[in-house]
Amino acid sequence: MRLFLAVDLPLPMLQQVADGVEELRKSAGSGRQFRWLGTDNLHITLKFLGEVEESQVNQLSGCCASIEWSGFGLKLGGSGYFPSVNRPRVFWQGFSAGIDEMRGLLARVERCAAGIGVLKDSRPYTPHLTLARIKPSKDGNAVAAFRQIQKEADDLLPVGSSFPVTTFSLYQSQLTPAGAVYTRLDTFLARII
Ligand code: ATP
Ligand code: MG
Repeated sequence: MRLFLAVDLPLPMLQQVADGVEELRKSAGSGRQFRWLGTDNLHITLKFLGEVEESQVNQLSGCCASIEWSGFGLKLGGSGYFPSVNRPRVFWQGFSAGIDEMRGLLARVERCAAGIGVLKDSRPYTPHLTLARIKPSKDGNAVAAFRQIQKEADDLLPVGSSFPVTTFSLYQSQLTPAGAVYTRLDTFLARII
């Protein structure tokens, strides 16, 4: 099964981000290139595990449940493009506080992933909220439009808002022609909140 671990936004915060995304969807003009995500798909990926044998899920869950971590705050920051505004594939919102704490939690999660044979990602971890996926295009004027969307996003999204992280969850991802469908399999709580 295709699995990943993620942190969810508290519902009121999720709704604020989703409202901003809805405005951006309208402003991007039917968004031929942008595939905007809705409340069901907005999350902060902690670790993408990929294909995991069903027989290993209990070990993974048990390990994640045994991690001793303290809750912390995340603060929403500005938006940007991966890998770059010139070749954008993902439009995201970042964080201005709590990044080191997310990295600390990931370091512990990596040990659980290693236990079931999932390797560490070689790239440094940058926590982010994927807001849209972007279809590649050869339109030379697109960069200006991408910059414009980013500018609008920083006005429409709840930049500067903080929220507590007290849980993370194990999700199954099923890829369908209509997009990925995520199912929460388990949730892990901080020891101290
Ligand atoms: P789709 O692949 O159809 O666009 P998706 O990316 O939402 O949908 P998955 O590919 O199953 O669905 O990914 C699940 C989550 O893990 C998403 O948040 C995705 O951004 C993240 N993810 C997927 N692959 C990686 C990867 N190689 N490294 C880091 N995160 C990843
Ligand atoms: Mg994907």
